[in-house]
Amino acid sequence: MPRNDALAAAAAYFDDGRFRADLQRRVALRTESDTGAPGPALGAYLTDELTPALEALGFACEQFPNPEAGGGPFLVARRIEDAALPTVLSYGHGDVVSGQDAQWDEGLGPWRLEVRGERWYGRGTADNKGQHSINLGGLAAALAARGGRLGCNVTWLIETGEEAGSPGLHALCREQAETLRADLLLACDGPRVSAARPTVFLGSRGAVNFSLRLKARARGYHSGNWGGVLMNPAIVLSHAIASLVDAHGRMQVDGLLPPPMPAAVRAALADIAIGGDPDDPELDAGWGEPGLSPAERLMAWNTIEVLALDAGSPQRPVNAIPPRAAAHCQLRFVVGTPVDDLGRIVRAHLDARGFEAVEVEVARTGAATRLDLGNPWVAWCQASIEASCGQRPDLIPNLAGSLPNDAFADLLGLPTLWVPHSYPACAQHAPNEHLLAPLAREGLQIMAGLYWDLGEAGSAPWRSGALAAEAVS
Ligand SMILES: [Zn+2]
Repeated sequence: MPRNDALAAAAAYFDDGRFRADLQRRVALRTESDTGAPGPALGAYLTDELTPALEALGFACEQFPNPEAGGGPFLVARRIEDAALPTVLSYGHGDVVSGQDAQWDEGLGPWRLEVRGERWYGRGTADNKGQHSINLGGLAAALAARGGRLGCNVTWLIETGEEAGSPGLHALCREQAETLRADLLLACDGPRVSAARPTVFLGSRGAVNFSLRLKARARGYHSGNWGGVLMNPAIVLSHAIASLVDAHGRMQVDGLLPPPMPAAVRAALADIAIGGDPDDPELDAGWGEPGLSPAERLMAWNTIEVLALDAGSPQRPVNAIPPRAAAHCQLRFVVGTPVDDLGRIVRAHLDARGFEAVEVEVARTGAATRLDLGNPWVAWCQASIEASCGQRPDLIPNLAGSLPNDAFADLLGLPTLWVPHSYPACAQHAPNEHLLAPLAREGLQIMAGLYWDLGEAGSAPWRSGALAAEAVS
């Protein structure tokens, strides 16, 4: 049966070592993008790695310079079988976070694929080189099984600045909207809910970073001679933070709470368990919004975190009242949160509590997205994955982390399906990043099955009238 041929071809690509060899070469390119000075490896990754791989499958490849100064290039690859056929857009990123070379375990390093048991170590194995290599391998397998035809058109968009906040991605999607026009986004990034079962997610939470600053005076003063008569900015700022989020991690800013949780979101999250893999941390009982399950807190609620605090000199404290204090905070949020008003809402909240002197500075925002759970692509994707690996995937409305999915959901107006091939303890963004071999092999088969099913006449819901407008910002 040809669908099985596609799955077998995907497994063979893993089993005969070709996938490992491809990933080894890709990991070896130092494509760090978060160092402040992105280097030539970014373009080389597109030119030397992905372009030949995509051209071998019949794609026409074109590189676009970044519309934003200093940002890395983009690769747009198109494989048009017939202009009358629908098009699936895929996405990945060739850049990685900095290697943190000195911090890996003995014998491991970021730029060499090292296999130890089921773990394949190396920077980008999980985020995102391994994942788009799995995506590409699955596509190749489906194509081979159907005799060099896919049954739909495919466009790939690869960026090289995701770890630096995706500079220019939204501008490129606006400028090249016609080139990128498609009917569906199918992409791979992020972790599964757990290693044991596949996952589908439909968008992501957004994130906005903001800083609180309080400056009292130009210099520090002796804490004995002046303590009790000079205001301490570190103390006042601590209370300002406590007014935003209480001692149990519960948000105190009503204006930044999410809208009521949709019943379909609650239902989808009902059987999603968080944590429990061997390297996962213990969840803290009593932390976070009461009355919600851990999955609801992570994926259907908003949280404020304090990422860094600054006052005095923590490495070498002196007996002085520090002249200033700062807190660098973050809000993670779901769709429907009035995040564009965050500065005004936090300002009003602090003013009402006597913290007028605390300054609020809002940095870059990443939007939240969530495809409607009733969109016909959702059930289609679950059924395809189940047919490939015999397990119903976990369905999460949106990833708890963030992705630039609004470029696809909002700017290009696409229904968005994400099928991750990593797992929560993959050490993404940290030393010892790794891919799990069984998940890579299964992921290749899942992707082969999805591409196979996309090209089956009548199988995929391409023509359903309900499609385009359901991506919610
Ligand atoms: Zn990342």
